[in-house]
Amino acid sequence: MDLIIDSDSGFASSTNILNLADHLQNKKMKKKEVEQLLQNFVQDKWLIEQDGEYSLHTRCIMEMEHYIQNTYQDLVKTCNICHNIAVQGQICENCGIKIHLTCVERYFRGQSGPRCPQCTEPWTQEIPRISQTSSEMPSTSQVVSSVQGGRRNVSTASTRARRPL
Ligand SMILES: [Zn+2]
Ligand SMILES: [Zn+2]
Repeated sequence: MDLIIDSDSGFASSTNILNLADHLQNKKMKKKEVEQLLQNFVQDKWLIEQDGEYSLHTRCIMEMEHYIQNTYQDLVKTCNICHNIAVQGQICENCGIKIHLTCVERYFRGQSGPRCPQCTEPWTQEIPRISQTSSEMPSTSQVVSSVQGGRRNVSTASTRARRPL
């Protein structure tokens, strides 16, 4: 949970979680138990598992929005576009604002040189392409989880890959 919130993209790999679990609880939990726990979370729809990555399920984000906002005030940012809580999104490498993937896609759609709405520096992150035009909750972004594989740098943005569009 902390790890997912802490990660820029809102995703945490199972490896990261297992590593984290190693440091927790005086190693009371064995890896098998952690894996089992994650499976239970997935089954109960608290987490989404995809290709070994775990993210918060929409339901979890919705039900825990207040909790998340209160507990992680310093960590969780709100989307610069829609001003809702943004757990999964892209962060401007220059000014640090966060935008939902879906909001990024909507905002930058059709722009050849996308720029940050806050600092107007060029947007360095890959613009997700969302084929569906449904207006879901912005924080779901399950549809785009595949495009952001490999982008789960927890601490800094320095090593983030910059793929050409
Ligand atoms: Zn948004
Ligand atoms: Zn910016």
